[in-house]
Amino acid sequence: MPRPEDYPVEVRTHTALHVLKGAVVRVLGKDAMWTASTYVEGRHGRLVVQFSRKPSDGELKHIEELANSKVSEDLRIEVVELAREEAEKTYGDVIYDLFKVPESIRVLSIVIVYDTSGEIWNINACNKQHLPSTSSIGRIKLGKARFRQTKNLLELPFDIEP
Ligand SMILES: [Zn+2]
Repeated sequence: MPRPEDYPVEVRTHTALHVLKGAVVRVLGKDAMWTASTYVEGRHGRLVVQFSRKPSDGELKHIEELANSKVSEDLRIEVVELAREEAEKTYGDVIYDLFKVPESIRVLSIVIVYDTSGEIWNINACNKQHLPSTSSIGRIKLGKARFRQTKNLLELPFDIEP
């Protein structure tokens, strides 16, 4: 079985964004389903979602624990290329972030993280590189969350362990 250090660190950090996003939506609900931006540098990442309030410490702890349980469960990650219309018809708006893919792009690369039940843990149109499964991410450690009330944005910084 491949180990985390076998993969480029930014591929691991980027893949962690997908797993973390799944946990954010499970804990905070559908109101947190729109990703406003993401950032990756080395083992540091940041997920920014649209949201209406600052989550409690308990909720943030729950998000971190849930994300790490999905790393431990080694969820399968699949990438499928689909015509845009087909992807939208099959999966709906959930494939998009707050700022949609430009209309000129007609074929989408859809990244699907499957939960152990076979249900979708996270799905997103994304053309970056990903791990084949989640265990090689390594442990995800959430940093100090920041809520920007004026913009209704929740920033979740994190690091992955070496
Ligand atoms: Zn991605």
